[in-house]
Amino acid sequence: MSAKKLIAANWKMNGSRALVEAVSQQLTSINATVDVLICPPATLLAHFPVSEHFSLGAQNISEHQQGAYTGELSAGLLLEAGASFVLLGHSERRQYYAETDALVCAKLQQAVAAGLTPVLCIGETLAERQQENTQQVIAKQLAAVYASHPELLVKSVIAYEPVWAIGTGESATPEQAQATHAFIRAQLALYDSAAAAKVRILYGGSVNAANCQALFAQADIDGALVGGASLKPDEFMQICQSAK
Ligand code: PEP
Repeated sequence: MSAKKLIAANWKMNGSRALVEAVSQQLTSINATVDVLICPPATLLAHFPVSEHFSLGAQNISEHQQGAYTGELSAGLLLEAGASFVLLGHSERRQYYAETDALVCAKLQQAVAAGLTPVLCIGETLAERQQENTQQVIAKQLAAVYASHPELLVKSVIAYEPVWAIGTGESATPEQAQATHAFIRAQLALYDSAAAAKVRILYGGSVNAANCQALFAQADIDGALVGGASLKPDEFMQICQSAK
């Protein structure tokens, strides 16, 4: 379990310069006992003021370092634009853009090489949970990166996001989430036990101001990855303030 919780906002393809201003302003009064990360669309990164109250992250990067890849953004470019983190392997990328475990691993290597902290998103679909395959799916997603690159764990953040809980209003219960987080930490210990004890494992999936406290009370939940509720500055602030 990590000492300081991390609350990350995934704006997805939402937001505006007005939201950048509202959220930056709101976060000037955030308590220093929590780390806050905002992952807006890449075009908004440069519109955030430099702040000691929050970090910025991208939502995706290319698996290539540079070159003739029209429309893509490299880790280095995003770093230069102000990002210090990047979400990788989000279920929407896996589902809509056919991102495989191998591709996610290549992107994670690029992120770390450039100096970005990767937030590796993993999680099972509803069908996989109903077939009682949650642990198998998660173990495979983790092994795809850390079995071959255990040295990357110490530089990573993990986000457990059950696909059935994302954007559905149906969060995992604190007990369900805790059980899976404990499993994730145990799996990671197979690759690097010291890093596994410290790595931050965030929960994501319909986190809001009403359910966050019970989630944050769980031993292996080190913060949250927040989608929908992160677009509402007041509610996002409440979630951040609940994470002490
Ligand atoms: C997400 O997409 O990472 C997410 C957790 O979304 P939501 O909070 O809206 O479920």
